[in-house]
Amino acid sequence: MTSTIDPKTIGKPQRPRRHVRTLTGYTPEKDASGKDQWPRGDEGVWRDGMRTVDKDVQAVTRSIVGHVQTSLARQAYNLDNLGAYQAAALSARDDLLVNWNTTQLTFTRKQPKRAYYLSLEFLMGRTLDNALLNLGLKDKFTDGVQKLGFNMEDVIEQERDAALGNGGLGRLAACYLDSSASQELPVWGYGLRYKYGIFQQLISPQGEQLEAPDPWLDNQNPWELPRLDVTYDIRFYGRADRLDDGTGRAVWHGGQEVLAVAYDVMIPGYDTASTNNLRLWESKPQRGFDLNSFNAGNYEGAVEASNSASAITSVLYPNDHTTCAPNRSIPIHFGKELRLKQQYFWTAASLADIMRRFKNAGKNIREFPDFVAIQLNDTHPTLAIPELMRILIDDEDLTWDQAWTIVTNTFFYTNHTVLPEALEKWPVPLIENVLPRHMQIIYDISMNGQVLLASNHVSDIQLTAFVEGQPKQVRMAHLACIGSRKVNGVAELHSELVQTTILKDFVEFEGVSKFGNVTNGITPRRWLDQCNPELSALITKTLKIEKSVWLKDLTKLEGLLPFAEDKAFRAQWSAIKQRNKERLAHHVQTTLGLIIRTDAMFDVQIKRIHEYKRQTLNILGVIHRYFALKKMTPEEKKKVNRRVVFFAGKAAPAYYIAKLTIRLIVNVARVINADPDTKEYLQLYFLPDYSVSLAEVLIPASDISQHISTAGTEASGTSNMKFCLNGGLLLGTVDGANIEIAEEVGENNVFFFGHLTPAVEDLRYQHLYHPVPIEEKCPPLAFVLNQISAGVFGGDGVYEPLLNTIRQSDYYLITDDFDSYIATLEMVDEAYLDKEEWIKKSIRTTAKMGKFSSDRAINEYAESYWNIEPVSIPTGGL
Ligand SMILES: *Cc1c(COP(=O)(O)O)cnc(C)c1O
Repeated sequence: MTSTIDPKTIGKPQRPRRHVRTLTGYTPEKDASGKDQWPRGDEGVWRDGMRTVDKDVQAVTRSIVGHVQTSLARQAYNLDNLGAYQAAALSARDDLLVNWNTTQLTFTRKQPKRAYYLSLEFLMGRTLDNALLNLGLKDKFTDGVQKLGFNMEDVIEQERDAALGNGGLGRLAACYLDSSASQELPVWGYGLRYKYGIFQQLISPQGEQLEAPDPWLDNQNPWELPRLDVTYDIRFYGRADRLDDGTGRAVWHGGQEVLAVAYDVMIPGYDTASTNNLRLWESKPQRGFDLNSFNAGNYEGAVEASNSASAITSVLYPNDHTTCAPNRSIPIHFGKELRLKQQYFWTAASLADIMRRFKNAGKNIREFPDFVAIQLNDTHPTLAIPELMRILIDDEDLTWDQAWTIVTNTFFYTNHTVLPEALEKWPVPLIENVLPRHMQIIYDISMNGQVLLASNHVSDIQLTAFVEGQPKQVRMAHLACIGSRKVNGVAELHSELVQTTILKDFVEFEGVSKFGNVTNGITPRRWLDQCNPELSALITKTLKIEKSVWLKDLTKLEGLLPFAEDKAFRAQWSAIKQRNKERLAHHVQTTLGLIIRTDAMFDVQIKRIHEYKRQTLNILGVIHRYFALKKMTPEEKKKVNRRVVFFAGKAAPAYYIAKLTIRLIVNVARVINADPDTKEYLQLYFLPDYSVSLAEVLIPASDISQHISTAGTEASGTSNMKFCLNGGLLLGTVDGANIEIAEEVGENNVFFFGHLTPAVEDLRYQHLYHPVPIEEKCPPLAFVLNQISAGVFGGDGVYEPLLNTIRQSDYYLITDDFDSYIATLEMVDEAYLDKEEWIKKSIRTTAKMGKFSSDRAINEYAESYWNIEPVSIPTGGL
């Protein structure tokens, strides 16, 4: 199973063993006295102002060696993989910088309308490989690094993931940045530079999830450029006094001021010089110490003030779709005030920066929406709406109506969930204390909304009463909706649900045209070319078009369809899948010391652990299969399809039920993998510490992946797209983007099961008011639950709270979907045994995934929402 962990090492960064060696394959010139002359700094080749095109292997090695000596101040004679990575990264960065400067200068000169993507999360993963592929320099660097005595894959592995996100929402932001740059769209990202990213997941000997900090910045981060000159003062607390001059203006004063410092991350486009920017803010005390308290002899108080300022960007909150436990009203504890301060700090710094850039262009403030579009990625940046109102009214002297016109033409809001427990609500007293001026503005927005409705003869004042409840809370989705030009969901079904459930009233009164859909996408650069280079090469060879063409127009993959009928092609296709399984097995062996068999179907479910995603359904299905195998005769077993099941994913640290699910998976794996009756036919692994980099190894190796959320709960899902793009088939419910994937690839190439969205409410009602005992409703499931209770997988009763969620209200419909799930798993087995037919399905699936490129999605935002256009960037500098 998972490696056992010595608790004493938890939280301590594990130092990789160092293999020191001398750079080979590079012969330095000799000076007059015969001493070696090593190059200094980057002396890459420039010809006709073009470098990225002409940088040859020789230039790469010179540049890397130069960085070893100067930037890293290390000796070329003894260098480890980490040093080689850092030098290679700095060398690639030199190329990015040229393009990045050119791009930003072009924007400044041409002054196009720009879009800003505000996201509290950017789950970037590693950068080096991606940057080299986008620059078209991967081969040259691979050769260059090899000449210096290193292996490119080992060097790439040295980079720590930039894991500034929880899951899909943060990864979507990262894919959109890649697509914006690749489509040459003037888009910047704005986020926070967390000192600690998503926690590192460790598994204890009992199978419990343990959380350790992720100090990802401990090794210097070569990809960020500190902009110590770009800073803003951000205010909290204090008082807001309305002026009685009839203008509605107010003065906000006193309180705490914190400094926001910018760090820029370059975002290279694929096969273009266009290189966009991701600006991340760090919080710092405005002056290192509060001199007043210092003088009064209050040394500790002075130091504390500086601590609390830095705390704002210290850590990413590890909740994904959980602000409190579902239907149980147990609040998941977290420091609410600090989270609110994070959100305001980030939106205020970003808006100040956007406003300064706009003003530098010398435009009239009324033209703001002609030059600026701001996308709110979920409700996290909703405070940008009252903040822009504050700037326009208090600082720019506009009237309320003038300001509101600008605001409602600037913002766009993407909803990411309709789960009631995941909708953000902030207590009024908290906002009043931390952001007194914003609370006034929020009340005014609410009141004005009601006046507006009354004038339209709408009597339902509840509509804009987004300040509701006892104690009063602000419903952020309502505020985001009323303050935005357009609102969208992230897949067709989800956008429909947004309009018919949580924002239903707004559709009625503001008109349906305010609402839209943009189905999510993924970047095919990272999620095919980078993570599955062999498949990418086979596709290029087969389509007989340049890789740079189909990677930018993914619908070109349809050209693969006829080859599904070509036996030789199918053999190549399946050989690549096999090698990817072996690559995964090798990875598991080197990281966890476990031997995995590769002559089996690989069945993968990797995503955040949450009741709505139903990892429980999957593990209960595995247990069911285990007992079925144990009952079989040796003859019967021979006909069985061998299956290796993989799970990976993190649970929110306070999400007790999700953590129990992990514990159950780990302990079931222990029993199954050790049972001589079954281990040849069924293996189970929980791979700890799920991340972008782990996904890049798992996804290309998958035969089938599971996306089995209760219908209507998964807004879109994006890992479903990643698997299908890599020729993995989909086992799922009729939910989120699964539906659109099936529309594209054809229903006979996916495995669907379970109840549909319209049935869910009724079923829940039945559970509550007409419950049927599980023994009656679903005997095979009852058997499985009883085995767990009886201690077959240990635990001494620890799993009861998890099992009770199913036995009692069963909010996520495990008891309703179990039978059809098991039946569908059997269909999957049967289909897999017909190898040739399976490969055909796999090829057809990849071929029809064009729609799910994030290039398509970002172009929809650009055209239908932001109204921005591509700006072409000259290669090699201005
Ligand atoms: C794509 C991705 C996700 C989203 O997965 P879903 O199955 O769509 O929830 C989460 N985490 C990582 C690391 C990813 O790459």
